[in-house]
Amino acid sequence: MVATTVHTSSSKPTNSGLAEYAVTQDQSPGRNFSEPACQTRTEYQRDRDRIVHSTAFRRLEYKTQVFINHEGDLYRTRLTHSIEVAQIARSISRALHLNEDLTEAIALAHDLGHTAFGHAGQDALHQCMKDYGGFEHNLQSLRVVDFLEEKYPDFNGLNLMFETREGILKHCAIKNARNMGAIGQRFINHTQPSLEAQLTNIADEIAYNNHDVDDGLRSGLITIQQLQQVDLFDRHYSEVNTRFADLPDKRKAQETIRRITNQLVCDLIDNTLKNIEYNNIKSIQDVRSSKTTIVAFSANLKKQMAELKSFLHANLYQHEQVNKMSTNAKKVISNLFTSFYSNPKLLPDEHRTKALARKEIGGDDEFARVIADYIAGMTDRYAQIEYGRIN
Ligand code: MG
Repeated sequence: MVATTVHTSSSKPTNSGLAEYAVTQDQSPGRNFSEPACQTRTEYQRDRDRIVHSTAFRRLEYKTQVFINHEGDLYRTRLTHSIEVAQIARSISRALHLNEDLTEAIALAHDLGHTAFGHAGQDALHQCMKDYGGFEHNLQSLRVVDFLEEKYPDFNGLNLMFETREGILKHCAIKNARNMGAIGQRFINHTQPSLEAQLTNIADEIAYNNHDVDDGLRSGLITIQQLQQVDLFDRHYSEVNTRFADLPDKRKAQETIRRITNQLVCDLIDNTLKNIEYNNIKSIQDVRSSKTTIVAFSANLKKQMAELKSFLHANLYQHEQVNKMSTNAKKVISNLFTSFYSNPKLLPDEHRTKALARKEIGGDDEFARVIADYIAGMTDRYAQIEYGRIN
């Protein structure tokens, strides 16, 4: 089994059950629009529930992670990816006595702004938008929860808590941060987000690296023999192979992935606790003013993760068969954008009215943004249907 042990001595819960450096709603700047408290749920539970009930969340079911829907029913989609991230993030959060509700909300929302067709879709839309401010899925996730969901009578968006929004906005260019008010400040001041946000970011990496190995093997695009070039995989696979020599390869691979995930999670918890102690973190203010992020793998595992990542880039994400999808994504997304931009009559009424109204106020950038919002919201198959409709 994995040798890593988790030391929990420095993660003492306070009376609330949370560590002293956890996010609490009492210390939060709260929501953009004030609302009466809920009788039965914490503010972050409420955020999580708003995310689960959003339209953008349901769309994740039909958005590609790496393998497109029709290639098989068992591959990860953006939805199952988000659920796996939430599971891993919650486990880490609980072990560190952090705010598990906040962690779960960030994890479930982190990919809401992703386009159809995986990263290829995002790259294509960014290319289309390069003269109008660009397109970035992190910013788009925040746009979804801040403006694009239309569910409440008094405001656009989901009116989420500050820390949930902060966690969703993982990266942001300084020029964009300047227009984003309080949520953009940390990119300008070089301060850190909450530990809950930091850990969810890494839980995302743990989830996709492991499930992409699993999906990659299932698809046959990568093999166990190839993966044995990767130290992290090889070490666990060798142990599994020695101990369970008679098991079919498929099960050996599953057990290997399980052990890798476990080691990554345990290492992250253990190393983060050391960082908390070393940096004398006693409050959320200490977390924010720290020069570096506190949630981090040990140096050794960080290196091994990087090796696994570059293996997946070279052998899976750049695989000829995956690239075929990228070519299609580029064709569909670029065509949709160019067609809607040059002939707004092709847009459905609701989006055309919005695009023309916004053009009056903000010119071409705003006009293009409404089109990008419409395209970014499409599932893989809806994008394909729209492409068929206008061509
Ligand atoms: Mg993700």
